[in-house]
Amino acid sequence: MKLSEYFLPTLKEDPSDAEVVSHKLMIRAGMIRKLASGIYSYLPYGLKAIQKVEKIIREEMEKAGAIEVLMPSVQPKELWEESGRWNYYGKELLRFVDRAGREFCYGPTHEEVITDLVRNNIRSYRDLPKNLFQIQTKFRDEIRPRFGVMRAREFIMKDGYSFDIDEESAERTYMKMYEAYCNIFKRCDLDFRAVEADTGNIGGSFSHEFMVIAESGEDTIFLCRHCNYSANKEKTEVGEKVCNININEELKPLEKIHTPNKKTIEEVSGFLNVPPTKLVKTVIYLVDSVLHMVLIRGDREANEIKVKNYLKANEIRLATNEEIENTLGIPVGFMGPYKLKNIRIIADISLKGLKNFVTGANETDYHLVNANFERDIHVNEYADISEAKDGDPCPRCDNGELYSKKGIEVGHIFKLGTKYSLAMNAFYLDEKGQEKPMIMGCYGIGVGRTVAASIEQNHDQDGIIFPIPLAPFQVIIVPLDIKNHEIIEVSNNLYKKFREIGIEVLIDDRDERPGVKFKDADLIGVPFRINIGNTYKKENKLEVFYRKTKEKNLMNFQEVIEFFKNKF
Ligand code: ATP
Ligand code: MG
Repeated sequence: MKLSEYFLPTLKEDPSDAEVVSHKLMIRAGMIRKLASGIYSYLPYGLKAIQKVEKIIREEMEKAGAIEVLMPSVQPKELWEESGRWNYYGKELLRFVDRAGREFCYGPTHEEVITDLVRNNIRSYRDLPKNLFQIQTKFRDEIRPRFGVMRAREFIMKDGYSFDIDEESAERTYMKMYEAYCNIFKRCDLDFRAVEADTGNIGGSFSHEFMVIAESGEDTIFLCRHCNYSANKEKTEVGEKVCNININEELKPLEKIHTPNKKTIEEVSGFLNVPPTKLVKTVIYLVDSVLHMVLIRGDREANEIKVKNYLKANEIRLATNEEIENTLGIPVGFMGPYKLKNIRIIADISLKGLKNFVTGANETDYHLVNANFERDIHVNEYADISEAKDGDPCPRCDNGELYSKKGIEVGHIFKLGTKYSLAMNAFYLDEKGQEKPMIMGCYGIGVGRTVAASIEQNHDQDGIIFPIPLAPFQVIIVPLDIKNHEIIEVSNNLYKKFREIGIEVLIDDRDERPGVKFKDADLIGVPFRINIGNTYKKENKLEVFYRKTKEKNLMNFQEVIEFFKNKF
């Protein structure tokens, strides 16, 4: 491709609305342009990077036995009512009405459509298993679209769905997809981890997320230093190993102490000179319209998703001060479980066995000291609802300790089981002619997000440093003086030769100063740059510049050809 004829509008300045480096660089390198909030065009250079990822995905999917289809983006409401998600999915689902008054949505995911397709066309165990995938545009009306194509409203996803006759076969399919995903992200040259994950809006019995390690990631994952346990924060188990604070202490008499204006853990802990580990704090959630009290040790935080999953709730949020005061009649800041009735109280597992703790007295400016479970406070359930912390003992192995990292979720696989097949009657006939529900799985990859995640991991102050597998072009030829006949001729010859041997090559044939050309080449991150200028005039040598390490090598024409022939 000749740069003079290409469509690659690069920018010197960072866009003002970009928070993360991949967003800034994708705009500056002429890969994407915003049309509306969370809605982007892919320009030719960005599209090429997308197509690289898509090609890797297609190859690995087909290798793993998945078959490509393409379903409509527009989906009828009736299918979503069958699955029960029309009301459940909430505002992320973009809904609209056609001229006849029929309701539709723009697909955020395709479980309903694929289940409908398969139930209508597959009847016998002989036609199973089937694993179908597509690469297609999705729409999710995200609350906070940001980070460019990383959290967009319209985005390209590879989504796949599998149908098996039984659990065993479904698990084999799941493992095949797990491996295919590992292969895909390895081939994209990403530093990633597969972690245990929550199943969220999609539902199902278990799942893994593929997380690209990056400081800008919106997710936190925990990893064990000793074994290979790793999980999303929302899923990381906190075991009873954290309950070793003072389980053997003698019970002391309960006291009510005046703690004027001391509300936060820090204030109460400082005022009473008691460590946060001996404070019990209270969080009130509104769970499917009912208030619930959650007790957590002072040094830990409740995790809303863990609470939601434990309670098998549809909707959860923190209760407002008004809701608490009006409904429970207790003062926020001095709340506690003491003598409270008419509310379900769930204690975090970290509180098991804790003795002589401090908690709110349900009276303004008072706390209880030396409170104890059973004797003073009755809780009938303990659950794992607090967030893991760095240094927590590993829930799986004996001596392991957890540490956290930030990650970008690029892929997510779910074992769905019969959630959709039962709701939507996707049955098959087994050998004995009996009807059985198909066992499903689903598998997603954010294609644009994968490109952005790669840029988060591969850049420097000058711009993108594309890893070779995702690079839109592997080489850029930079003739440094386009008025010099000799330089132009050798540049064009090299360009032709590269194209003949199948190397994707750009040539910067613009009438620009070398400095401008170098800056652009660095910004767009082409892995190799070949400078053709003075050294060619003097000694017939071309300068091969490696973007990643900034190494330079002088080679003659034939050596350059050999070098790239070997490389690619
Ligand atoms: P997130 O927690 O980031 O919102 P999700 O769990 O909703 O993701 P899935 O429903 O599992 O995502 O979708 C599959 C994949 O699609 C994700 O792993 C991610 O790579 C991609 N994806 C999801 N939402 C977006 C978005 N708003 N913009 C770009 N890619 C997205
Ligand atoms: Mg989401």
